[in-house]
Amino acid sequence: MNCRTEELFRCIHCLDRFPRDQRTRDHVLPRGWYPDDTPPDLERWTAPCCRGCNTRLSKLEQNLGTRIGLSLGPNHPGAIGIYEKSLRAMNPGEGRDEADSRARLALQREILGDTLNGALIDTRAILAGLGPAEGVPVTELPAIPLPVPMVDGFCHKLTRGALWVFDEQVVEPPRRIELYHVNDCGDQFIENVNELLETSGQHFHRSNTIDIWIAPAVDAPREILMRFRIWSKWDWYAHATELDV
Ligand SMILES: [Zn+2]
Repeated sequence: MNCRTEELFRCIHCLDRFPRDQRTRDHVLPRGWYPDDTPPDLERWTAPCCRGCNTRLSKLEQNLGTRIGLSLGPNHPGAIGIYEKSLRAMNPGEGRDEADSRARLALQREILGDTLNGALIDTRAILAGLGPAEGVPVTELPAIPLPVPMVDGFCHKLTRGALWVFDEQVVEPPRRIELYHVNDCGDQFIENVNELLETSGQHFHRSNTIDIWIAPAVDAPREILMRFRIWSKWDWYAHATELDV
């Protein structure tokens, strides 16, 4: 097949080019992650994505979103309805048809099968912001594992989407995204990065659902530092860089 290049679009995730009629819109923050009290006219950020990546990422987001949603509990103000959505995602009785009910049951079995007794986990492994409410002992709660490839796959996806929305940047080699989870960073690192983002960054805020801070990391336009905060709960950092560390 021959195709004129101007009739192609580029998927920001796999970086391949596809005919324009195959273009889909990837929701930078997954559609299902917006709380029930999100204003209906809120602009939902999207980025160009191929069908294959959209399908793959939607599955990942649903699985990860259900796991995280369960840990939020029913009353978190930044995530109204997310906990209930997680319960419905695992409830075969909510299925639209037989196949959907089977998929919900499979997700329920997968997540419940992964769930651990809180007494058995290393508390250092609890993702910052996603632990129990203050004063609730970890040992009294079940722990829902968040597989590293799932968490990092999602964080990479969100970072790529945010860079596209803010500056139409596509991250391609040798440029890459480095992720920093709060658990793995020292307090001093967090303090320095937050100060840099507060003083020289831009802050985008979407009704308690997501906050993104973005700033040049050093004096080079392609070195970008970002902080993400989802549901006023879960903080993590990303660095788009082409420097050798
Ligand atoms: Zn793709």
